[in-house]
Amino acid sequence: MFSVLTDFDKLRVERFKQATEDKLRDIRCPDHHQPLRIRFQGTTLRDVSISLSGCCEKLMGIANARIGSPWAAEAPSSKAS
Ligand SMILES: [Zn+2]
Repeated sequence: MFSVLTDFDKLRVERFKQATEDKLRDIRCPDHHQPLRIRFQGTTLRDVSISLSGCCEKLMGIANARIGSPWAAEAPSSKAS
């Protein structure tokens, strides 16, 4: 069982969060000029999930395109785990 959280894991998670934030930080809704809200959950790279929220679908679309990953913003979790 690999349940021990090592410093290495923490570091990688921090880097991942930082990189994601850097990618998304400057996104603003072209219609409402609202910034994107980003929340992270989880403490390991396996665990970590991002939840994004914003003023409208347009902003979420931009964010999803930018993040370039299958994480769906504000979508119900469809992960089979
Ligand atoms: Zn908007």
